[in-house]
Amino acid sequence: MTNLDIRDFTRQELAGTLISLGEKGSRIDKVFNCLYRKGAESFDAMAGVQEDFKAKLAARYSLTPAPKIEKLVSKLDGTIKLLFTFPDGAKAESVVLFNKKTVSACISSQSGCACGCVFCATGGLGLKRDLRPHEILAQYAACRREAGRQLDSLLFMGMGEPFMNWANVRKSVLLLSDNKGYNFPQTRITVSTVGIVPVIRELAESRLEIRLAVSLITADEKHRAELTPMSKKYSLREVIGGARYYTDRTKRMVFFEYILFDGVNDSAEDAKKLLALIKDVPCKVNLIMYNPVPGGTFTPGRFEKGKEFQTILVEAGIRTHMRREKGTDIAAACGQLAAGGTGDAANKAGN
Ligand code: SF4
Repeated sequence: MTNLDIRDFTRQELAGTLISLGEKGSRIDKVFNCLYRKGAESFDAMAGVQEDFKAKLAARYSLTPAPKIEKLVSKLDGTIKLLFTFPDGAKAESVVLFNKKTVSACISSQSGCACGCVFCATGGLGLKRDLRPHEILAQYAACRREAGRQLDSLLFMGMGEPFMNWANVRKSVLLLSDNKGYNFPQTRITVSTVGIVPVIRELAESRLEIRLAVSLITADEKHRAELTPMSKKYSLREVIGGARYYTDRTKRMVFFEYILFDGVNDSAEDAKKLLALIKDVPCKVNLIMYNPVPGGTFTPGRFEKGKEFQTILVEAGIRTHMRREKGTDIAAACGQLAAGGTGDAANKAGN
């Protein structure tokens, strides 16, 4: 049996194993320092860790070779897209976004996606496989290297539905925020879902401090059924109920992502429908213009109509932001990630 990658285990899990082997659990702290602060890629490279201990770890765990990384840089705004190819051939993409004063990274939780949203390039790929914690962390580390500084925020909004790979995403959040490792604050991590209600509720009951974004896509059940097959499983009413439960339990607001498609869901009436749906939920709405993908049949919402839409929400007291998409020339914008391909389903957008 192949040994599991040591970076797929939290410090607490590894310490527990060490204790069961008659070792001191705290010996793992130095290993964490080597892995996450010094970037050791082999047990041999762990400076300051005793040889016999390295041998013990190497007998039990592995360190998967680093993924191959290809890079694209947007000529429009400097956005960087990274394409990762893992040793087994699975691919995933991350995006580094430079704002006026901040840098954020959008990372993937799965290679492909099973949700099949008809407007999203990733959905057209189908699910190749879930990403393991160390593969999620590899994206974070590479994005940080590209940023040349600490990231201000980390978004699970790339390829995949994070709540359909929750065990690995949850563990990667614990690893990212470990104070002996990257020490990245959970409060700066946002996980986006199309609305996997049981996991929204689980998150609400957990002690994690990450932020929740729910990609409503539209406020009309009929349109939503056409756009995302997931709506057959969880209705808008159930998704909003889950979001409300999250805000009640955590006392944190939820972010609602709403994608504007021209003539589909961008009228004043649509804005009022959205308002009726979310008015009792402490939230902020992010309006996102649909980003076209090759072969797509949808048209992006128009800026003026988007502004009118935004005004209706703002006047009703809902904090609303119209997100300016970046990296469209390198297919790095929301919904365009297709692991180096174009995806075979036409119109797409990430969570
Ligand atoms: S929008 Fe998100 S959930 Fe839907 S197919 Fe794309 S990546 Fe998957």
